[in-house]
Amino acid sequence: MVFPLKSIEDFTIDLTQDHELLRNAVREFAENEVKKYVDKGEVERDFPKDLKERAKDLGLYGLDVPTEYNGQGADYLSLLVTAEELSRIWTSFSTFFLIQWMFNQAILKWGNESLKKRYLRDTAKGEKIAAFCNTEPDAGSDVAGIKSTAKKVNDHYVLNARKMFITNGDVADYYLITARTSPPDPKAKWKGITVFIVEREWGVKTVSRIETTGLKASHTAEIMLEDVKVPEENVLGEVDMGFKYAVESFDYARTIVSSQAIGIAQQAFEKLVNYSLQRTAFEKKLAEFELVQQKVSESLDDLETSRLLTYWAGTLYKRGRMQEYIIAASLAKFHSTEAAERIVMRAMTVHGGYGVSVSTGLERLLRDLQILKTYEGTNDIQRISAARQFYYRFMGVKV
Ligand SMILES: Cc1cc2nc3c(=O)[nH]c(=O)nc-3n(C[C@H](O)[C@H](O)[C@H](O)COP(=O)(O)OP(=O)(O)OC[C@H]3O[C@@H](n4cnc5c(N)ncnc54)[C@H](O)[C@@H]3O)c2cc1C
Repeated sequence: MVFPLKSIEDFTIDLTQDHELLRNAVREFAENEVKKYVDKGEVERDFPKDLKERAKDLGLYGLDVPTEYNGQGADYLSLLVTAEELSRIWTSFSTFFLIQWMFNQAILKWGNESLKKRYLRDTAKGEKIAAFCNTEPDAGSDVAGIKSTAKKVNDHYVLNARKMFITNGDVADYYLITARTSPPDPKAKWKGITVFIVEREWGVKTVSRIETTGLKASHTAEIMLEDVKVPEENVLGEVDMGFKYAVESFDYARTIVSSQAIGIAQQAFEKLVNYSLQRTAFEKKLAEFELVQQKVSESLDDLETSRLLTYWAGTLYKRGRMQEYIIAASLAKFHSTEAAERIVMRAMTVHGGYGVSVSTGLERLLRDLQILKTYEGTNDIQRISAARQFYYRFMGVKV
């Protein structure tokens, strides 16, 4: 036993040559076709149509969807590799896919055959864009604190909802929306929430696009639904079980966020090292100064521990070891996002005055990281959750 895990094999990372081939392909795409759009896209707060079309050719939208529904049938580790490589160049763009994958996965896990056929075939091909909507103006971390409602009327539900900080909120075609179908049970507040698949044209309205400090090209919006009729068959899974589906969807997305952070960390590390070899001071390369070397080794330490934790968590997910995965995913998320931040700060320091020049591209990484530390469960919530899950699942104690 390797406390708190059962055996040393629980530390295995299942990356293969196929993942390496995928990494090379995505890196080539990111370097050759994505990079040229980053600066313009961040200013214009959008992704060019051409790029989204190219992503369709590569099958990025349905990477996690089985081939029978037009997807690529790739495993969870492939998503991590892809998100890492896209984020090494443009994190906003990888967030676009993160949400698409979250939607796909929820339909795959809890949708019936008819819902899978109706929705996945289009999202997997990138013909339709998806959003996942739980956060509200007054409830984010407190998932069960949502106030949106869904009232059953004959063979449909009437939804009234207001959702905040919704990625793809103003551009999506399909939305997964959490709403209360029963009032909160004082003893089990989480019960009574249901997830609905809602099509934009049924009445999803954009309240406003939110201007964020980072991930500028990603569309973050507030949306609302007023008396929107949703057919009964568009309930995802079981009525009143939506809290479980939402939380498990965030669990799924969490390690993808860790891999986004690794992409950012990698980009900052490369900038740090390259600059340390180009720039001279006092007739020496910066790389020759010991305090610069310290920043290189501490950054390597941060980068590779993040990678190990993230791909380890991913392997646990792939193997269905959810008890261990939930803890590993929380550790990977707060470690990787904060380690990436430390690397960016070191890279800025090594760049001296150029470190604060926007043209170096480093400040964008910090702005993006602040969002990575926040979405799919804030880092503070991850710290609390990892400890509570540990006490509960490994020590049998509820704290
Ligand atoms: C750019 C962006 C995109 C997003 N995309 C989506 C999306 O597509 N879909 C979606 O549903 N949501 C999305 N979100 C919302 C995101 O998941 C929430 O912002 C996040 O979960 C935090 O919720 P909150 O903003 O309501 O903050 P709050 O929950 O109000 O938290 C505020 C602070 O209090 C702390 N806190 C809260 N509760 C506790 C506690 N029990 N113990 C200790 N500290 C606590 C938090 O850590 C945080 O620091 C997005 C957010 C951003 C910024």
